[in-house]
Amino acid sequence: MNHIENDEQYKGLAVNKGVASPPTINPYLKKQRRERKPEYSVNEYVEGILKGDITILSQAVTLVESTLPQHSKIAQEVIEKCLPHSGNSLRIGITGVPGGGKSTSIDSFGMHLMARNKKLAVLAIDPSSELTKGSILGDKTRMEQLSIQKNAFIRPSPSAGSLGGVARKTRETIILCEAAGFDTIFVETVGVGQSETAVRSMVDFFLLIQLAGTGDELQGIKRGIMEMADAIIINKADGNNVDKAKLAAGQFRNALHLFPPTESGWIPKVLTYSGYYGTGIKDIFDMIDEYESMARESGYFLHKRNQQNKYWMYETIDEQLKDHFYGNPEIKAIIENKEGLVMGGEVSSFIAAKDILDRYFKSI
Ligand code: GDP
Repeated sequence: MNHIENDEQYKGLAVNKGVASPPTINPYLKKQRRERKPEYSVNEYVEGILKGDITILSQAVTLVESTLPQHSKIAQEVIEKCLPHSGNSLRIGITGVPGGGKSTSIDSFGMHLMARNKKLAVLAIDPSSELTKGSILGDKTRMEQLSIQKNAFIRPSPSAGSLGGVARKTRETIILCEAAGFDTIFVETVGVGQSETAVRSMVDFFLLIQLAGTGDELQGIKRGIMEMADAIIINKADGNNVDKAKLAAGQFRNALHLFPPTESGWIPKVLTYSGYYGTGIKDIFDMIDEYESMARESGYFLHKRNQQNKYWMYETIDEQLKDHFYGNPEIKAIIENKEGLVMGGEVSSFIAAKDILDRYFKSI
């Protein structure tokens, strides 16, 4: 059939195959970036941090996040020297699905703490940021009021590496922030999976932000994450959403009753609030105070921190063993070869693994 739109006179209207859009990230940018030398000596970093100098603190955190061995070496020495000055803060984990209002809430929570002369560091764990490029967590622009406060230090998620690596860097940053005099630390993460376990293992109290009346698909919160929470706080309890939020609170309370009792003896609470309008926030912090008093009195607070230290010792061993193993050039080559053989059904996965490990153990 003769289609009129194919006529020569309409040629200009034809939809042509577009040009592929360029990648948003210039792949060469990273390589071009100069590798800056650390600007200070270990002692200068430590002195600056202990004085509460934010510029030096930021630069030290950059060293912690760096993947260059010479940076890590200095970072580790700085951390070691800051360690005796750390620990004097309340560490609070905050999670919730994207759009749940984490940044709005952290902004309001932070302002609540500012009014009480607290010093707050907001850190984040977002292991997906390496894939998605451009971390969304801990981004200053999302916390408009807090980002201009001199007593607030906001740092986005370290982006490079595995969850274990990202989490370790955040944990080390906590130490530096505490040594710099921050008495409250928020560790933010997205409520979608494994990163909660990592956050829970570095905080004293874990808040789960939920929404009312959005259906399960948006909540996307796994039962396991609910079980980790010391409190579920239902955001956006404002306008005509107040009743729905209260109803949801009741449902969450019922659900929590089904969980086994916690080791601390604390019964997880459910509260409603509005991060946007700043209502219900005092109740949240009163509750956290109540928890802290209880846990300190019973000795659970310290017990949990000691357990966490143990956990991080093993995590660090695991991470460094893996790095050492997979980073070995000889091993890399054998793995590639063995992988092909396993995929082709020529060698069993067990034998392949054993061969690779034998080679590794001989090489070290
Ligand atoms: P995040 O992705 O979890 O960091 O969520 P945001 O803080 O960016 O909030 C997502 C959306 O929810 C934004 O449009 C906010 O303005 C809105 N929002 C956040 N908190 C509240 C609240 O307390 N009440 C209402 N009505 N909207 C809110």
